[in-house]
Amino acid sequence: MLDAMQTITPGPPALDPPALDPPALDPPALDPLTPAPADRSRSASGLPGSMRASAPWQRCREAALRALDPWLPRACALCGATLTQRHAGLCRHCRLDLPGRTRLRCQRCGGGLGAAGPCPDCAETGFAFDATCVLADYAPPLDRLIGALKFRGQLAGGRALGLETARVLRRWQADNAAAGGLPIGLLIAVPLSEARLRERGFNQSQAIATALGQRCEIALGQPLIRARATLAQSGLPLAERRTNLLDAFVLAAAFTPGARNPALPGHVALVDDVMTTGATLHAAARVLRLAGVRQITAVVAARTRRPDLPPSASQT
Ligand SMILES: [Zn+2]
Ligand SMILES: [Zn+2]
Repeated sequence: MLDAMQTITPGPPALDPPALDPPALDPPALDPLTPAPADRSRSASGLPGSMRASAPWQRCREAALRALDPWLPRACALCGATLTQRHAGLCRHCRLDLPGRTRLRCQRCGGGLGAAGPCPDCAETGFAFDATCVLADYAPPLDRLIGALKFRGQLAGGRALGLETARVLRRWQADNAAAGGLPIGLLIAVPLSEARLRERGFNQSQAIATALGQRCEIALGQPLIRARATLAQSGLPLAERRTNLLDAFVLAAAFTPGARNPALPGHVALVDDVMTTGATLHAAARVLRLAGVRQITAVVAARTRRPDLPPSASQT
């Protein structure tokens, strides 16, 4: 178990797999959605090359690349075009083309809104989080980028998603401050179960949260533990999704009442790659709420679109 003081530190938490460190070092791929070289060099353990223990000369090389990182050319994670902006994950063209980027969304759950009226997702169910920041709809080409991150270990995609989501979060933070909201004191990636983490080798939400935290200058920490493996959420109806996730998350011992630890900040953000029904984020937020967190914001790279909404819609 990590000491609480270790978990709330700027940058990746100590439990991060080493692969979360090098995403910024991934060379710009000409076709970003094809397997990166790291994938082709998987070891017998199934881990990408960058996750295996490295020789001293490799560590020196990685340290040198890390130092040079801010000056290395980068490529758009979707089309491969050279990026001219330093803190960008996508080129301007791909960014403006993101599905549902300007969609009118429910402030609470990030779901798309059609005609005037209450959000149908929030009307059906209550969420334990207060607000949701969304980069775009879970639709092509964003779904392929998330799939490449999640299932092919292309961690550079996680960095790109984090940087682009940071643009949305920074605007949201300004509005939140103007409305008298608390500043976000901690970013929490939705944790995977131990079994899933071993199988995948990394947590895709952590990859996104790492870049997000660096860009927005918010500390990362992990007060949550995924206590048990749950059935895959996809394909389950909402009610079953919620049942499936009952008690899926618990508070790490260092954060339980009475433990000697820094209290959780008043406002935390939960980071995930995709929100579908919101059941996972609700379950995680519920634990934080019970631990006394006053404001909880969900931050997701993509939100699924209800079938009754058009593929593209504008706030105007
Ligand atoms: Zn592009
Ligand atoms: Zn809603």
